[in-house]
Amino acid sequence: MPNTDEAAIAQLHEAFAAQKAAFVRCLYPSIDERRGHLAALIRAVTSYRARIKEALRADFAVHPEAFSDLAEVLSVVTRAMYAAENVTVWAADEERFTDPSIFGSARATIRRRPKGVIGNIVPWNFPFELSLGPLVEMLAAGNRAILKPSEYTPACGEVLREMIAENFAPDHVTVVVGGVDLARAFCNMRWDHLLYTGSPAIGREVAKAAAQNLVPVTLELGGKSPVLLHEDAITAENVAQILGAKAIKNGQMCISTDYCLVPRASVPDFVRHARAHMLERMPGYSRSEDCAGIISERHLDRLVGMLAEARSRGCEVITLENDAQVDRATRRMPLSLVLDPPEDLALMQEEIFGPILPIKSYDSLDEAIAYVNGRERPLALYVFANDEQVAEDILARTISGGACINACAAHGAVPSLGFGGIGESGTGRHHGIDGFREFSNPRGVFVRGKGDLFDAFTPPYGEMANTIAD
Ligand code: NAD
Repeated sequence: MPNTDEAAIAQLHEAFAAQKAAFVRCLYPSIDERRGHLAALIRAVTSYRARIKEALRADFAVHPEAFSDLAEVLSVVTRAMYAAENVTVWAADEERFTDPSIFGSARATIRRRPKGVIGNIVPWNFPFELSLGPLVEMLAAGNRAILKPSEYTPACGEVLREMIAENFAPDHVTVVVGGVDLARAFCNMRWDHLLYTGSPAIGREVAKAAAQNLVPVTLELGGKSPVLLHEDAITAENVAQILGAKAIKNGQMCISTDYCLVPRASVPDFVRHARAHMLERMPGYSRSEDCAGIISERHLDRLVGMLAEARSRGCEVITLENDAQVDRATRRMPLSLVLDPPEDLALMQEEIFGPILPIKSYDSLDEAIAYVNGRERPLALYVFANDEQVAEDILARTISGGACINACAAHGAVPSLGFGGIGESGTGRHHGIDGFREFSNPRGVFVRGKGDLFDAFTPPYGEMANTIAD
Protein backbone atom coordinates (compact mmCIF):
# COMPACT_ATOMS: atom_id res chain seq x y z
CA MET A 1 0.00 0.00 0.00
CA PRO A 2 1.44 3.44 -0.88
CA ASN A 3 2.42 5.61 2.01
CA THR A 4 -0.08 8.48 1.95
CA ASP A 5 1.74 10.46 4.61
CA GLU A 6 5.12 10.75 2.92
CA ALA A 7 5.31 14.54 3.06
CA ALA A 8 4.11 14.63 6.68
CA ILE A 9 6.65 12.00 7.70
CA ALA A 10 9.45 13.97 6.00
CA GLN A 11 8.29 17.07 7.88
CA LEU A 12 8.27 15.09 11.14
CA HIS A 13 11.88 13.97 10.60
CA GLU A 14 12.95 17.50 9.77
CA ALA A 15 11.25 19.02 12.81
CA PHE A 16 12.59 16.26 15.06
CA ALA A 17 16.19 16.81 13.90
CA ALA A 18 15.82 20.57 14.32
CA GLN A 19 14.43 20.19 17.84
CA LYS A 20 17.10 17.71 18.89
CA ALA A 21 19.84 20.05 17.64
CA ALA A 22 18.24 23.07 19.31
CA PHE A 23 17.92 21.19 22.59
CA VAL A 24 21.63 20.37 22.64
CA ARG A 25 22.46 24.00 21.77
CA CYS A 26 20.31 25.36 24.58
CA LEU A 27 19.82 22.60 27.11
CA TYR A 28 18.19 24.13 30.11
CA PRO A 29 15.94 27.19 29.72
CA SER A 30 15.73 29.44 32.76
CA ILE A 31 12.54 29.65 34.79
CA ASP A 32 11.84 33.08 33.29
CA GLU A 33 12.18 31.68 29.79
CA ARG A 34 9.77 28.88 30.64
CA ARG A 35 7.29 31.37 32.00
CA GLY A 36 7.62 33.21 28.71
CA HIS A 37 6.79 29.99 26.83
CA LEU A 38 3.70 29.47 29.00
CA ALA A 39 2.62 33.06 28.38
CA ALA A 40 3.02 32.46 24.62
CA LEU A 41 0.78 29.42 24.92
CA ILE A 42 -1.87 31.40 26.78
CA ARG A 43 -1.76 34.12 24.11
CA ALA A 44 -2.00 31.51 21.36
CA VAL A 45 -5.04 29.79 22.80
CA THR A 46 -6.93 32.96 23.69
CA SER A 47 -6.27 34.59 20.32
CA TYR A 48 -7.47 31.44 18.52
CA ARG A 49 -10.57 31.02 20.68
CA ALA A 50 -13.07 31.62 17.86
CA ARG A 51 -11.14 29.40 15.41
CA ILE A 52 -10.96 26.63 18.02
CA LYS A 53 -14.73 26.67 18.47
CA GLU A 54 -15.31 26.71 14.73
CA ALA A 55 -12.97 23.75 14.18
CA LEU A 56 -14.65 21.71 16.93
CA ARG A 57 -18.01 22.36 15.28
CA ALA A 58 -16.62 21.27 11.93
CA ASP A 59 -15.23 17.99 13.24
CA PHE A 60 -18.07 17.03 15.60
CA ALA A 61 -21.00 18.35 13.50
CA VAL A 62 -22.34 19.90 16.72
CA HIS A 63 -20.17 21.05 19.61
CA PRO A 64 -21.57 23.19 22.45
CA GLU A 65 -19.84 26.59 22.43
CA ALA A 66 -19.79 26.98 26.19
CA PHE A 67 -18.14 23.61 26.57
CA SER A 68 -15.55 24.42 23.89
CA ASP A 69 -14.65 27.49 25.91
CA LEU A 70 -14.53 25.64 29.22
CA ALA A 71 -12.82 22.41 28.23
CA GLU A 72 -10.60 23.35 25.31
CA VAL A 73 -9.67 27.01 25.92
CA LEU A 74 -10.09 27.99 29.57
CA SER A 75 -8.77 24.67 30.89
CA VAL A 76 -5.50 25.15 28.99
CA VAL A 77 -5.23 28.77 30.14
CA THR A 78 -5.82 27.98 33.83
CA ARG A 79 -3.42 25.05 33.67
CA ALA A 80 -0.73 27.25 32.11
CA MET A 81 -1.31 30.01 34.69
CA TYR A 82 -1.08 27.49 37.50
CA ALA A 83 2.19 26.11 36.09
CA ALA A 84 3.66 29.60 35.62
CA GLU A 85 2.88 30.40 39.26
CA ASN A 86 4.39 27.19 40.60
CA VAL A 87 7.24 26.29 38.29
CA THR A 88 9.90 27.89 40.51
CA VAL A 89 8.92 25.63 43.39
CA TRP A 90 8.52 22.55 41.16
CA ALA A 91 11.96 23.07 39.61
CA ALA A 92 13.81 23.78 42.87
CA ASP A 93 16.67 21.39 43.63
CA GLU A 94 15.83 18.87 46.36
CA GLU A 95 18.50 18.21 48.96
CA ARG A 96 18.81 14.54 49.88
CA PHE A 97 20.33 13.10 53.04
CA THR A 98 23.97 12.01 53.03
CA ASP A 99 25.33 10.20 56.08
CA PRO A 100 28.19 12.43 57.33
CA SER A 101 29.97 9.46 58.91
CA ILE A 102 30.49 8.06 55.39
CA PHE A 103 30.16 11.02 53.03
CA GLY A 104 31.62 13.76 55.23
CA SER A 105 30.43 17.19 54.15
CA ALA A 106 29.28 16.06 50.67
CA ARG A 107 25.95 17.27 49.26
CA ALA A 108 23.44 15.25 47.26
CA THR A 109 20.64 16.90 45.29
CA ILE A 110 17.95 15.94 42.82
CA ARG A 111 18.00 18.48 40.03
CA ARG A 112 14.99 18.18 37.74
CA ARG A 113 16.04 19.02 34.22
CA PRO A 114 14.20 18.84 30.89
CA LYS A 115 14.26 15.50 29.15
CA GLY A 116 14.59 16.99 25.67
CA VAL A 117 12.23 16.46 22.75
CA ILE A 118 8.84 14.98 23.63
CA GLY A 119 6.26 13.52 21.24
CA ASN A 120 2.55 13.82 22.00
CA ILE A 121 0.05 11.58 20.15
CA VAL A 122 -3.37 13.12 20.65
CA PRO A 123 -6.83 11.49 20.30
CA TRP A 124 -9.85 13.05 18.67
CA ASN A 125 -12.09 13.56 21.70
CA PHE A 126 -10.40 16.65 23.22
CA PRO A 127 -8.17 17.83 20.37
CA PHE A 128 -6.91 21.03 22.05
CA GLU A 129 -7.01 20.09 25.73
CA LEU A 130 -5.11 16.84 25.18
CA SER A 131 -2.46 18.42 22.96
CA LEU A 132 -1.96 21.73 24.76
CA GLY A 133 -2.75 20.65 28.35
CA PRO A 134 0.22 18.26 28.63
CA LEU A 135 2.27 20.77 26.61
CA VAL A 136 1.91 23.09 29.61
CA GLU A 137 3.91 20.76 31.82
CA MET A 138 6.30 19.82 29.00
CA LEU A 139 7.17 23.52 28.58
CA ALA A 140 7.25 24.19 32.32
CA ALA A 141 9.83 21.41 32.58
CA GLY A 142 11.86 23.08 29.80
CA ASN A 143 11.25 20.61 26.97
CA ARG A 144 10.61 20.91 23.25
CA ALA A 145 7.64 19.09 21.74
CA ILE A 146 6.03 17.79 18.58
CA LEU A 147 2.26 17.27 18.67
CA LYS A 148 0.34 14.87 16.43
CA PRO A 149 -3.44 15.37 16.39
CA SER A 150 -5.86 12.62 15.38
CA GLU A 151 -6.82 12.00 11.76
CA TYR A 152 -10.46 12.04 12.97
CA THR A 153 -10.27 15.78 13.71
CA PRO A 154 -8.75 17.32 10.58
CA ALA A 155 -10.20 20.81 11.16
CA CYS A 156 -8.90 20.95 14.73
CA GLY A 157 -5.53 19.57 13.60
CA GLU A 158 -5.18 22.33 11.02
CA VAL A 159 -6.08 25.09 13.50
CA LEU A 160 -3.65 23.62 16.01
CA ARG A 161 -0.92 23.53 13.39
CA GLU A 162 -1.46 27.18 12.40
CA MET A 163 -1.79 28.38 15.99
CA ILE A 164 1.44 26.74 17.11
CA ALA A 165 3.36 27.80 13.98
CA GLU A 166 2.31 31.40 14.60
CA ASN A 167 3.40 31.41 18.24
CA PHE A 168 6.38 29.05 18.55
CA ALA A 169 9.58 28.45 16.61
CA PRO A 170 9.43 25.06 14.82
CA ASP A 171 12.56 23.91 16.66
CA HIS A 172 10.68 24.51 19.93
CA VAL A 173 7.07 23.34 19.44
CA THR A 174 5.50 22.12 16.23
CA VAL A 175 2.49 20.15 14.98
CA VAL A 176 2.49 17.46 12.32
CA VAL A 177 -0.77 16.34 10.73
CA GLY A 178 -1.49 13.21 8.78
CA GLY A 179 -2.96 9.73 8.93
CA VAL A 180 -2.13 6.37 10.43
CA ASP A 181 1.17 6.04 8.53
CA LEU A 182 2.35 9.23 10.18
CA ALA A 183 1.12 7.93 13.55
CA ARG A 184 3.17 4.75 13.12
CA ALA A 185 6.27 6.66 12.01
CA PHE A 186 5.79 8.98 15.00
CA CYS A 187 6.03 6.02 17.42
CA ASN A 188 9.29 4.86 15.88
CA MET A 189 11.24 8.06 16.58
CA ARG A 190 13.86 8.19 19.32
CA TRP A 191 11.92 10.59 21.53
CA ASP A 192 13.26 11.63 24.89
CA HIS A 193 9.73 10.88 26.10
CA LEU A 194 6.52 9.89 24.33
CA LEU A 195 2.99 10.66 25.52
CA TYR A 196 0.16 8.68 23.99
CA THR A 197 -3.52 9.30 24.75
CA GLY A 198 -6.01 6.92 23.21
CA SER A 199 -7.32 3.39 23.32
CA PRO A 200 -5.54 0.58 25.19
CA ALA A 201 -5.31 -1.45 21.95
CA ILE A 202 -3.23 1.19 20.14
CA GLY A 203 -1.48 1.98 23.43
CA ARG A 204 0.03 -1.50 23.30
CA GLU A 205 1.36 -0.84 19.79
CA VAL A 206 2.80 2.48 20.87
CA ALA A 207 4.48 0.95 23.93
CA LYS A 208 6.00 -1.83 21.80
CA ALA A 209 7.37 0.62 19.23
CA ALA A 210 8.75 2.88 21.98
CA ALA A 211 10.41 -0.09 23.68
CA GLN A 212 12.45 -0.74 20.52
CA ASN A 213 14.17 2.59 21.16
CA LEU A 214 13.97 2.46 24.97
CA VAL A 215 11.80 5.56 24.85
CA PRO A 216 9.99 6.23 28.15
CA VAL A 217 6.22 6.46 27.64
CA THR A 218 3.23 7.93 29.37
CA LEU A 219 0.09 6.08 28.34
CA GLU A 220 -3.20 7.85 29.00
CA LEU A 221 -5.69 5.15 28.05
CA GLY A 222 -9.35 4.46 28.60
CA GLY A 223 -11.63 1.72 29.80
CA LYS A 224 -14.81 1.34 31.76
CA SER A 225 -15.00 3.79 34.65
CA PRO A 226 -17.74 2.71 37.06
CA VAL A 227 -20.04 4.63 39.35
CA LEU A 228 -20.79 2.83 42.59
CA LEU A 229 -23.85 4.15 44.42
CA HIS A 230 -24.39 3.25 48.04
CA GLU A 231 -28.00 2.69 49.09
CA ASP A 232 -28.04 5.98 51.03
CA ALA A 233 -27.10 7.98 47.92
CA ILE A 234 -29.97 7.39 45.49
CA THR A 235 -31.06 11.02 45.31
CA ALA A 236 -32.31 13.22 42.48
CA GLU A 237 -29.19 15.36 42.85
CA ASN A 238 -26.76 12.45 42.55
CA VAL A 239 -28.56 10.89 39.61
CA ALA A 240 -28.62 14.30 37.89
CA GLN A 241 -24.90 14.57 38.37
CA ILE A 242 -24.22 11.11 36.98
CA LEU A 243 -26.34 11.79 33.90
CA GLY A 244 -24.77 15.22 33.52
CA ALA A 245 -21.27 13.74 33.47
CA LYS A 246 -22.42 11.11 30.97
CA ALA A 247 -23.86 13.84 28.75
CA ILE A 248 -20.57 15.78 28.63
CA LYS A 249 -19.40 15.51 25.03
CA ASN A 250 -22.18 12.95 24.55
CA GLY A 251 -20.24 10.37 26.53
CA GLN A 252 -17.06 10.72 24.45
CA MET A 253 -14.78 11.44 27.39
CA CYS A 254 -12.17 9.07 28.83
CA ILE A 255 -13.42 9.64 32.38
CA SER A 256 -17.08 9.43 31.43
CA THR A 257 -19.32 7.35 33.68
CA ASP A 258 -19.27 4.08 31.76
CA TYR A 259 -21.72 2.07 33.88
CA CYS A 260 -23.49 2.33 37.25
CA LEU A 261 -23.64 -0.15 40.09
CA VAL A 262 -26.94 0.41 41.92
CA PRO A 263 -28.45 -1.52 44.87
CA ARG A 264 -31.11 -3.84 43.38
CA ALA A 265 -33.96 -2.39 45.44
CA SER A 266 -33.01 1.16 44.37
CA VAL A 267 -32.98 0.65 40.60
CA PRO A 268 -36.62 1.87 40.17
CA ASP A 269 -35.77 5.04 42.12
CA PHE A 270 -32.66 5.61 40.02
CA VAL A 271 -34.71 5.27 36.82
CA ARG A 272 -37.44 7.59 38.16
CA HIS A 273 -34.90 10.29 39.03
CA ALA A 274 -33.19 9.85 35.65
CA ARG A 275 -36.44 10.25 33.69
CA ALA A 276 -37.49 13.27 35.75
CA HIS A 277 -34.12 14.95 35.30
CA MET A 278 -34.08 14.51 31.54
CA LEU A 279 -37.68 15.65 31.09
CA GLU A 280 -37.46 18.62 33.43
CA ARG A 281 -33.89 19.85 32.98
CA MET A 282 -32.80 18.52 29.60
CA PRO A 283 -35.89 18.22 27.37
CA GLY A 284 -35.02 17.60 23.72
CA TYR A 285 -31.39 17.23 24.77
CA SER A 286 -30.11 15.11 21.91
CA ARG A 287 -31.45 17.63 19.36
CA SER A 288 -30.13 20.66 21.21
CA GLU A 289 -26.93 22.64 20.69
CA ASP A 290 -25.72 21.26 24.04
CA CYS A 291 -25.35 17.77 22.66
CA ALA A 292 -22.10 17.12 20.79
CA GLY A 293 -22.12 14.96 17.68
CA ILE A 294 -20.56 11.50 17.73
CA ILE A 295 -17.18 11.77 16.02
CA SER A 296 -17.90 9.54 13.02
CA GLU A 297 -20.58 7.41 11.30
CA ARG A 298 -18.60 4.34 12.32
CA HIS A 299 -18.74 5.26 16.01
CA LEU A 300 -22.44 6.09 15.74
CA ASP A 301 -23.09 2.69 14.14
CA ARG A 302 -21.12 1.02 16.92
CA LEU A 303 -23.35 2.66 19.56
CA VAL A 304 -26.59 1.96 17.71
CA GLY A 305 -25.38 -1.64 17.37
CA MET A 306 -24.76 -1.89 21.12
CA LEU A 307 -28.37 -0.92 21.85
CA ALA A 308 -29.71 -3.25 19.16
CA GLU A 309 -27.75 -6.13 20.64
CA ALA A 310 -29.08 -5.32 24.13
CA ARG A 311 -32.66 -5.28 22.82
CA SER A 312 -32.19 -8.50 20.88
CA ARG A 313 -31.08 -10.17 24.10
CA GLY A 314 -34.23 -9.04 25.89
CA CYS A 315 -32.69 -6.25 28.01
CA GLU A 316 -34.84 -3.37 29.12
CA VAL A 317 -33.60 -0.27 27.27
CA ILE A 318 -34.99 3.00 28.62
CA THR A 319 -34.69 5.96 26.27
CA LEU A 320 -34.62 9.06 28.42
CA GLU A 321 -36.27 11.29 25.85
CA ASN A 322 -39.87 11.01 24.67
CA ASP A 323 -39.54 11.33 20.94
CA ALA A 324 -35.85 11.29 20.08
CA GLN A 325 -34.50 9.17 17.24
CA VAL A 326 -31.00 8.65 15.94
CA ASP A 327 -30.18 11.75 13.89
CA ARG A 328 -27.71 10.65 11.23
CA ALA A 329 -27.16 14.16 9.84
CA THR A 330 -25.67 15.42 13.10
CA ARG A 331 -24.61 11.98 14.40
CA ARG A 332 -26.63 12.15 17.63
CA MET A 333 -28.84 9.75 19.53
CA PRO A 334 -30.81 9.98 22.79
CA LEU A 335 -29.30 9.05 26.12
CA SER A 336 -30.42 5.55 27.12
CA LEU A 337 -30.25 3.36 30.20
CA VAL A 338 -29.84 -0.40 29.81
CA LEU A 339 -30.98 -2.39 32.83
CA ASP A 340 -28.92 -5.35 33.96
CA PRO A 341 -27.27 -6.26 30.66
CA PRO A 342 -25.59 -9.68 30.51
CA GLU A 343 -21.82 -9.57 30.78
CA ASP A 344 -21.11 -10.80 27.27
CA LEU A 345 -22.81 -7.84 25.55
CA ALA A 346 -20.49 -5.42 23.73
CA LEU A 347 -21.64 -2.63 26.02
CA MET A 348 -20.34 -4.52 29.06
CA GLN A 349 -17.13 -5.62 27.32
CA GLU A 350 -16.02 -2.43 25.57
CA GLU A 351 -15.64 1.14 26.72
CA ILE A 352 -18.96 2.68 25.63
CA PHE A 353 -17.77 6.21 24.74
CA GLY A 354 -21.30 7.38 23.94
CA PRO A 355 -24.73 8.16 25.46
CA ILE A 356 -25.56 4.70 26.84
CA LEU A 357 -25.52 3.99 30.58
CA PRO A 358 -25.82 0.38 31.73
CA ILE A 359 -27.30 -0.02 35.20
CA LYS A 360 -26.02 -3.09 36.94
CA SER A 361 -27.86 -4.02 40.12
CA TYR A 362 -26.10 -5.48 43.14
CA ASP A 363 -27.28 -7.19 46.31
CA SER A 364 -24.45 -6.30 48.67
CA LEU A 365 -21.63 -3.78 48.75
CA ASP A 366 -19.14 -6.66 48.89
CA GLU A 367 -20.55 -7.96 45.61
CA ALA A 368 -20.31 -4.53 43.96
CA ILE A 369 -16.71 -4.08 45.12
CA ALA A 370 -15.80 -7.59 43.94
CA TYR A 371 -17.33 -6.75 40.54
CA VAL A 372 -15.14 -3.64 40.16
CA ASN A 373 -12.05 -5.48 41.38
CA GLY A 374 -12.74 -8.40 39.05
CA ARG A 375 -12.39 -6.24 35.94
CA GLU A 376 -9.54 -4.25 34.41
CA ARG A 377 -8.33 -1.43 36.64
CA PRO A 378 -10.36 1.62 35.61
CA LEU A 379 -9.14 5.11 34.80
CA ALA A 380 -11.62 6.48 37.33
CA LEU A 381 -14.03 5.29 39.98
CA TYR A 382 -16.94 7.38 41.25
CA VAL A 383 -18.36 6.59 44.65
CA PHE A 384 -21.62 8.08 45.85
CA ALA A 385 -22.38 7.68 49.54
CA ASN A 386 -23.96 9.97 52.08
CA ASP A 387 -21.77 8.55 54.80
CA GLU A 388 -18.20 9.69 54.10
CA GLN A 389 -16.76 6.72 55.99
CA VAL A 390 -18.61 4.32 53.68
CA ALA A 391 -17.17 6.14 50.67
CA GLU A 392 -13.65 6.02 52.11
CA ASP A 393 -14.06 2.29 52.87
CA ILE A 394 -15.02 1.67 49.24
CA LEU A 395 -11.95 3.58 48.04
CA ALA A 396 -9.80 1.64 50.49
CA ARG A 397 -11.00 -1.64 48.94
CA THR A 398 -10.68 -0.75 45.24
CA ILE A 399 -8.01 0.35 42.73
CA SER A 400 -8.34 2.98 39.99
CA GLY A 401 -6.24 5.67 38.30
CA GLY A 402 -8.29 8.46 39.88
CA ALA A 403 -11.47 8.73 41.90
CA CYS A 404 -14.19 11.10 43.03
CA ILE A 405 -16.47 10.93 46.03
CA ASN A 406 -19.97 12.25 45.34
CA ALA A 407 -18.93 13.63 41.96
CA CYS A 408 -18.10 12.37 38.47
CA ALA A 409 -15.10 13.41 36.37
CA ALA A 410 -14.32 16.46 38.52
CA HIS A 411 -10.82 15.22 39.35
CA GLY A 412 -9.86 15.70 35.68
CA ALA A 413 -10.61 19.41 35.91
CA VAL A 414 -8.26 20.19 38.81
CA PRO A 415 -4.96 21.51 37.38
CA SER A 416 -3.00 20.56 40.52
CA LEU A 417 -4.17 16.94 40.67
CA GLY A 418 -2.03 14.33 38.92
CA PHE A 419 -4.13 12.59 36.28
CA GLY A 420 -3.66 9.13 34.77
CA GLY A 421 -4.49 5.46 34.83
CA ILE A 422 -3.23 2.21 36.23
CA GLY A 423 -2.78 -1.11 34.46
CA GLU A 424 -5.04 -1.32 31.41
CA SER A 425 -6.09 2.33 31.83
CA GLY A 426 -2.55 3.64 31.48
CA THR A 427 0.67 4.53 33.16
CA GLY A 428 2.24 7.84 34.18
CA ARG A 429 0.69 11.17 35.08
CA HIS A 430 0.25 14.69 33.84
CA HIS A 431 -1.37 17.85 35.31
CA GLY A 432 0.52 20.05 37.78
CA ILE A 433 3.63 18.96 39.59
CA ASP A 434 3.03 15.33 38.61
CA GLY A 435 3.17 16.30 34.93
CA PHE A 436 6.23 18.43 35.53
CA ARG A 437 7.98 15.46 37.13
CA GLU A 438 6.82 13.06 34.41
CA PHE A 439 8.49 15.21 31.77
CA SER A 440 11.67 15.93 33.77
CA ASN A 441 14.90 14.03 34.23
CA PRO A 442 15.47 13.80 38.02
CA ARG A 443 19.21 14.02 37.85
CA GLY A 444 20.87 12.85 41.06
CA VAL A 445 23.99 14.97 41.62
CA PHE A 446 26.68 14.29 44.22
CA VAL A 447 29.14 17.04 45.16
CA ARG A 448 32.07 15.76 47.15
CA GLY A 449 33.00 17.54 50.37
CA LYS A 450 35.60 16.86 53.02
CA GLY A 451 36.04 14.11 55.59
CA ASP A 452 34.51 11.19 53.69
CA LEU A 453 35.50 7.54 53.75
CA PHE A 454 35.89 7.10 50.00
CA ASP A 455 39.33 5.55 50.26
CA ALA A 456 37.72 2.56 51.98
CA PHE A 457 35.73 1.76 48.81
CA THR A 458 38.57 1.75 46.33
CA PRO A 459 41.37 -0.81 46.07
CA PRO A 460 43.72 -1.52 47.64
CA TYR A 461 41.39 -2.47 50.53
CA GLY A 462 43.61 -1.75 53.47
CA GLU A 463 43.19 -1.12 57.09
CA MET A 464 40.37 1.43 56.88
CA ALA A 465 38.03 -0.97 55.01
CA ASN A 466 38.71 -3.70 57.54
CA THR A 467 37.98 -1.32 60.41
CA ILE A 468 34.61 -0.35 58.86
CA ALA A 469 33.73 -4.00 58.16
CA ASP A 470 34.38 -4.85 61.83
P1 NAD B 1 -7.87 8.06 17.98
O1 NAD B 1 -8.45 7.08 17.02
O2 NAD B 1 -7.91 9.50 17.68
O3 NAD B 1 -6.38 7.57 18.23
C1 NAD B 1 -5.54 8.23 19.14
C2 NAD B 1 -4.24 8.61 18.47
O4 NAD B 1 -3.57 7.40 18.09
C3 NAD B 1 -4.43 9.41 17.18
O5 NAD B 1 -3.52 10.48 17.17
C4 NAD B 1 -4.14 8.41 16.10
O6 NAD B 1 -3.60 9.00 14.94
C5 NAD B 1 -3.11 7.54 16.77
N1 NAD B 1 -2.96 6.23 16.15
C6 NAD B 1 -3.86 5.54 15.44
N2 NAD B 1 -3.33 4.37 15.03
C7 NAD B 1 -2.07 4.34 15.50
C8 NAD B 1 -1.00 3.40 15.43
N3 NAD B 1 -1.14 2.23 14.81
N4 NAD B 1 0.16 3.70 16.06
C9 NAD B 1 0.29 4.86 16.72
N5 NAD B 1 -0.67 5.78 16.83
C10 NAD B 1 -1.84 5.52 16.23
O7 NAD B 1 -8.52 7.93 19.40
P2 NAD B 1 -9.11 6.70 20.11
O8 NAD B 1 -8.05 5.70 20.34
O9 NAD B 1 -10.40 6.31 19.49
O10 NAD B 1 -9.43 7.50 21.48
C11 NAD B 1 -10.37 7.12 22.33
C12 NAD B 1 -9.72 6.40 23.48
O11 NAD B 1 -8.85 7.28 24.13
C13 NAD B 1 -10.70 5.94 24.52
O12 NAD B 1 -10.34 4.67 24.98
C14 NAD B 1 -10.52 6.97 25.62
O13 NAD B 1 -10.92 6.51 26.89
C15 NAD B 1 -9.07 7.24 25.52
N6 NAD B 1 -8.75 8.54 26.11
C16 NAD B 1 -7.99 8.56 27.23
C17 NAD B 1 -7.69 9.77 27.84
C18 NAD B 1 -6.86 9.84 29.07
O14 NAD B 1 -6.44 10.93 29.43
N7 NAD B 1 -6.59 8.73 29.75
C19 NAD B 1 -8.19 10.96 27.27
C20 NAD B 1 -8.95 10.87 26.12
C21 NAD B 1 -9.22 9.66 25.54
